[in-house]
Amino acid sequence: MDFELSEELQALQSTVRRIAQEKVKPRAREIDETGEYPQDLFEVFRDAGLLGLCIPEDLGGSGAGIMGLTIAIEEVAKYSNTAALMLLLTRLPTGPVMIAGSRALNENFVAPIADGSKRAAFCLSEPQAGSDVMGMRTKAVADGDEWILNGTKCWISGVVQADWYTVFAKTSSDVTERNHNAVTAFVVERDRDGVEVGSTDRKMGVRGVDTGELLLHDVRVPASNVIGEIGGFQLAMQGLNSMRPIVAARGIGLAEGALMYAVEYVKERAAFRKTIADMQGIQWQIAELAAEIEAARLLTYRAAWMADRGEFTKEFVPFLSMAKYYATEVAVKASNLCLQMLGAAGYMKDHMTELYYRDAKQLTIVEGTSQVQLGLIARGVLAHDLWWD
Ligand SMILES: Cc1cc2nc3c(=O)[nH]c(=O)nc-3n(C[C@H](O)[C@H](O)[C@H](O)COP(=O)(O)OP(=O)(O)OC[C@H]3O[C@@H](n4cnc5c(N)ncnc54)[C@H](O)[C@@H]3O)c2cc1C
Repeated sequence: MDFELSEELQALQSTVRRIAQEKVKPRAREIDETGEYPQDLFEVFRDAGLLGLCIPEDLGGSGAGIMGLTIAIEEVAKYSNTAALMLLLTRLPTGPVMIAGSRALNENFVAPIADGSKRAAFCLSEPQAGSDVMGMRTKAVADGDEWILNGTKCWISGVVQADWYTVFAKTSSDVTERNHNAVTAFVVERDRDGVEVGSTDRKMGVRGVDTGELLLHDVRVPASNVIGEIGGFQLAMQGLNSMRPIVAARGIGLAEGALMYAVEYVKERAAFRKTIADMQGIQWQIAELAAEIEAARLLTYRAAWMADRGEFTKEFVPFLSMAKYYATEVAVKASNLCLQMLGAAGYMKDHMTELYYRDAKQLTIVEGTSQVQLGLIARGVLAHDLWWD
């Protein structure tokens, strides 16, 4: 067992740490206030080669894998979860294509993500189908060598900037069918007739990367746009399973950022003839959070290591879900306690704590809520996928 990052990963970590401190940190507050997409940061990430971290070298990426992306996102999320989401979106929609898509789909759609010439989004959720994915109503019907898609996706991160979408649709004759083989994944280009971005959401946090609706009206795509097999719903699940460490990284980075911010403040803030940091009650909160952050980091790094070994099928689910569940809950707890440590100041927009607090809550909802993760972990224990003898 080796707990040290490789030399390459250490170098990546220090490069991204510097970019996060010099470029991301000064922009975080402004991005939240304007809600405008930070194109400048996208270009910084592109120029530093960070958009292709999880993309193989033969597709123009750096092949740093899920571990590389996890480490980069952790650094960026210390200052901005919006910027961290921009990096995450290099993997969420491309995951199913890299896992099961044809070589042509990989060359035409994944490679341009690595060089920043294209952006993509992942379209699974629908107004009546969030956790209950099989409740989706978007339908794809075969017509010769084409498929015709109709439906509405919602809460889609990056929907406005995306050039193409990974869209999940029912390919069974009955749209209420709940068997897993009823759902198929497609690449849908933004510029196809019938593709429209609908309304965008007014979010409490992670502003700057819009979420919103994708409307599909009689959209025709060639059969070659099918990702993997017809009825390959497992793709959605395997794609999401392999994403767990990446979304967990947004949680650990946020928790680290919030705690570092609060610690610097309480060391300076005078009260009762000492500082807030001198109070044992505050010290215990700092210690508890530090321990929980480190526990979350270990779960997250292990999950990333597993995902890079291709261990994201059913039997590995509890280990992956545990990282997402725990790291994102720690982020919510840390953002809450750290805001509290600053008192009134923490509640004001002069400080980062209220932003961490608003951003953190997204993390326990997206890509499978905490409750859904707990269900998956429990199922793994009941099936002895996670067992201790
Ligand atoms: C900011 C943001 C960005 C998003 N980006 C994307 C995106 O890019 N692509 C995409 O496809 N989707 C995206 N989503 C949607 C997200 O994946 C869903 O919100 C999520 O899956 C939960 O679905 P829901 O909101 O419909 O909640 P519901 O499924 O309606 O759940 C409501 C509550 O009930 C709980 N619950 C549900 N089922 C169970 C159960 N079996 N046991 C116990 N509790 C349960 C949930 O945990 C939750 O607390 C995004 C959401 C947000 C907020």
